[in-house]
Amino acid sequence: MTGPWYFPWFELSATIRAMSNNTVKTRFAPSPTGQLHLGNVRTALFSALHARHAGGRFLLRIEDTDKARSREAFTRWIEDDLRWLGLTWDEGLDAGGDAGPYVQSAREPIYADLYARLQAAGRAYPCFCTQEQLEASRAAQRAAGRPPRYAGTCARLSAEEAAARVLAGEPHTLRFRVPAGETIEFEDLVRGPQCFSSDDIGDFVIRRTDGTPAFFFCNAVDDALMGVTHVWRGEDHLSNTSRQLLILRALGLPEPRYGHLALIVGEDGAPLSKRHGAMSLEELRERGYLPAAVTNYLARLGHTYASDALLNLDALAAAFDPVRLGRSAARFDLAQLDHWQKRALAAATPAQLVKWAGGSLTAVPVAQRERFMATVRDNVLFPADVLVWAQSVYEKIVPDEPAEAAIKDAPRELFTTALELLSAHGDDFRAWTKAISVRTGLKGRALFMPLRAALTGRAHGPEMAHFFALLGREKIEQRLRAVMEE
Ligand code: GLU
Repeated sequence: MTGPWYFPWFELSATIRAMSNNTVKTRFAPSPTGQLHLGNVRTALFSALHARHAGGRFLLRIEDTDKARSREAFTRWIEDDLRWLGLTWDEGLDAGGDAGPYVQSAREPIYADLYARLQAAGRAYPCFCTQEQLEASRAAQRAAGRPPRYAGTCARLSAEEAAARVLAGEPHTLRFRVPAGETIEFEDLVRGPQCFSSDDIGDFVIRRTDGTPAFFFCNAVDDALMGVTHVWRGEDHLSNTSRQLLILRALGLPEPRYGHLALIVGEDGAPLSKRHGAMSLEELRERGYLPAAVTNYLARLGHTYASDALLNLDALAAAFDPVRLGRSAARFDLAQLDHWQKRALAAATPAQLVKWAGGSLTAVPVAQRERFMATVRDNVLFPADVLVWAQSVYEKIVPDEPAEAAIKDAPRELFTTALELLSAHGDDFRAWTKAISVRTGLKGRALFMPLRAALTGRAHGPEMAHFFALLGREKIEQRLRAVMEE
């Protein structure tokens, strides 16, 4: 550990000792201000996969410093989403750990101590500038063609004056004093060597007027205090890293390694949003996507895998490798997500499929549900599709247009023959269709398509023999009569 500051206190932390043993510890640090979107789900996934790959630990920390927007309900939601994906954490919240609390709003005494240390070392100072003054200063700098940064007004106050104004109750923030002429270098795990000049960074706020910690500060010190070794996060945080390293160096705290993941964009290259068909994880769950579909899709969004197979989390973790992370933006493609949904459905057992389909199976007798799901599984992506098939087998069929056409174009003789031969071959689809074929001379498509249309209301769909068995003789008879009456 280097730096002007070194506190033996930190050395006592078991988690920091773990770091020197090279145990990988990754973390997911969401702000509970909304539902998880695919960008942060992917960050959580890569963090969890990396920890699992390395036999390390995955930590969950809740960054609820934005008091106005943070909600306890969102925290519960996030936990539930992570569990649903199988991304359970080894440390944090209910998993416990010795570096807690793991919710930032409960860490204020820890931050207060660090602020005091920074102030005592002259590395932080109270700033009394009002929003209006700051805005005016920024506007003047912009007008002069300079990038706006804090002008240093309060940096120059004497310690006595600052203390007196604080004592008098004047509202103030706490600013970090950025050292002049320093180069901040680090090796990003995705983007390679990075180099920033401290002269490009103005003194920045580390504690807001209301006393809450600013993101740069609490996010960085918590990673250090919790013994996080690898920080995976979105590329939008890359430029924050130099400020965070300055804070850690000023406090003599250990620095994690940072990996900034390329952002997810839509077809048009713009950051992913609703208009690209992107949904929150909650919406994906509601529609009926399976966890394995989401994890397999996201793991391949910006990270290449040699295998095209549907992989479980252990297999995804085993093959996770930071060198396989791409630097260019990852394009969201709903068709790919649907491809993995198909694969995940194909891999599920009939019992799992019944559970997944839930209320869409209301019309299906309990004893027939697994058989029914095994029949329709290749023809559905979501429970809503299951519902359509369930209704057409067990309730009334409403033929779609291609089915109507197939029925209309077929000779009537096909249906009368089918009906006549039903009692002789009622339980054996093959024997039944063979006998119809012999009698009518119809074969292949000309035989099967109209029968399928008459019995299921669709021109295409699952294996007819299975459907035939599910329908039973009585329903088949009714449906054949119905088309004959048309
Ligand atoms: N709470 C921050 C966010 O959700 C965490 C950023 C980070 O991972 O460092 O954006």
